[in-house]
Amino acid sequence: MPPLQRPESGTSVRLPPRDALLGADADVLVVGGGPAGLGAALGAARAGADVILAERYGFLGGTATAALVMPLMSFHNEARRVRAIDPTGSVRLLPSDHGPGEPVIAGVLQLFLDALYRAGGAIAPSQATGYTVPFDPERFKLVALELLDGAGVRFLFHALASGIVGDETPEGVVFETKSGPVVIRARTIVDCTGDGDVAAAAGARFEVGREQDGLVQPMTLMFRLVDFDREQFSAYVDAHPDQWHGVLGLEELIREAEEAGELDLPRDDLLFFATPHEREVSVNSTRVSHVLGTDVWDLTRAESISRRQLRQIVDFLRKRVPGFAEAYAAQSGTIIGVRETRRIVGEYRLTAKDVLTCGPFEDAIARGSYPIDIHDPQGKDTIIRRLPAGGAYDIPLRCLLPDGVDRLLVAGRCISGSHEAHSSYRVTPIAMATGHAAGVCAAIAARTGQPPRAVDHRAVQLELIRQGANLRYHTAQEAVTLLTTARIVGDRAARSRERTAA
Ligand SMILES: Cc1cc2nc3c(=O)[nH]c(=O)nc-3n(C[C@H](O)[C@H](O)[C@H](O)COP(=O)(O)OP(=O)(O)OC[C@H]3O[C@@H](n4cnc5c(N)ncnc54)[C@H](O)[C@@H]3O)c2cc1C
Repeated sequence: MPPLQRPESGTSVRLPPRDALLGADADVLVVGGGPAGLGAALGAARAGADVILAERYGFLGGTATAALVMPLMSFHNEARRVRAIDPTGSVRLLPSDHGPGEPVIAGVLQLFLDALYRAGGAIAPSQATGYTVPFDPERFKLVALELLDGAGVRFLFHALASGIVGDETPEGVVFETKSGPVVIRARTIVDCTGDGDVAAAAGARFEVGREQDGLVQPMTLMFRLVDFDREQFSAYVDAHPDQWHGVLGLEELIREAEEAGELDLPRDDLLFFATPHEREVSVNSTRVSHVLGTDVWDLTRAESISRRQLRQIVDFLRKRVPGFAEAYAAQSGTIIGVRETRRIVGEYRLTAKDVLTCGPFEDAIARGSYPIDIHDPQGKDTIIRRLPAGGAYDIPLRCLLPDGVDRLLVAGRCISGSHEAHSSYRVTPIAMATGHAAGVCAAIAARTGQPPRAVDHRAVQLELIRQGANLRYHTAQEAVTLLTTARIVGDRAARSRERTAA
């Protein structure tokens, strides 16, 4: 059964005009229930807004749960480097090359993780986990739901955003549902769809892929492999230390399988991670290039290719790799994992230089410390560029403000930045942090009746700090001082402008 091919004719069919049911009004509408959407909904609700979150699936978590992308990558700076690969970490199946450091993100992420730890759904980051957070995706979904409930966020599932209402500026979003089209109106909208679907529908400009050819990072169908025997695998690694490097390897066995015609993979090694469950690994080893996550024909093809790769990988592990003889794929992603699609052009575009030089920004609303991490859009390699030891970079509020579109913010992996910078800020913890900031800014905009771009970034910073976010200003007192000083400076500047005008 072949995937349906992209039609060559490009013939379009006119649709009849239609009405939609007005579902609800809110201060803030968050579209997308992934890490950024959770951050935005909780941030806005904790800032006092009446919030609705709408999501296309029947559960929360986005790529973390729908595509089974785990663990959460590190949000700690590396104050001290460790050896490139720590051999004693090789069978932990978690990164063993991350030095000790401090968290650079807190706020809603910390709130969420604390609840997840309490529910027994994750392992807290430490040197032993390579500062990643292994988690259980089913617990993730539940905890997210409970936190939204607790914060009074109303939510609508099975609702795919397909357009906007409003002439000049978006006043609401149209959702395709089993009950027909539904419109939700809001004073401020936060696009957390990962793909920037709402911003694109509102006419925001966007970029796709790398500068030279527009190619994006490949897609990966993740899966959970259970009934894995860690002791047997460890014994193999102890006997062949050159064949496993923290979370990836098996090059020799792969070559043998390739020569036997059993494996044909677009990568030279296999990558998998431990989870909170002893007899389970999370496999991140399928790869489909030259496909775009906003193109239905590409998505269809990618799902079909990656599922065949999954079968090959499972067969290979069971047949050739000690510890996997009894293992089986218990669950694969509901969707293939999409790393990169639209990057909405905002008032500022974050660059690789900003990331790698830990650029400070006056309007910083989130921080990141994860390296630039690009899975080659057309080859087998992965490029990693780390930040300086102990470093973290700022993400300015302007990256969340689509250029020329009012009433709308973007958060998560679709914010404004280059292909290279995106490869760092796309990870789950940073997506949740930009979501948190977008939610806070949206709540302030809704309350004050201003467009988000008119909201003073210092008010956003102050509320984020009040909610426990970890910006460069560490205490609420420091922030209050900052805000007061800023007001005085602002008033002086205004008086001086008035004198000049006079
Ligand atoms: C293969 C792969 C491996 C990765 N590995 C890691 C890793 O190990 N650790 C890590 O920290 N990060 C990793 N990442 C990155 C990270 O998972 C994502 O970039 C991150 O989840 C982005 O968060 P987001 O909220 O912006 O978007 P998403 O997680 O994509 O969430 C978007 C949400 O919006 C919903 N949505 C989309 N469109 C619509 C619409 N039109 N209407 C309504 N709802 C909509 C989606 O269903 C989803 O729930 C990986 C990503 C991939 C693809």
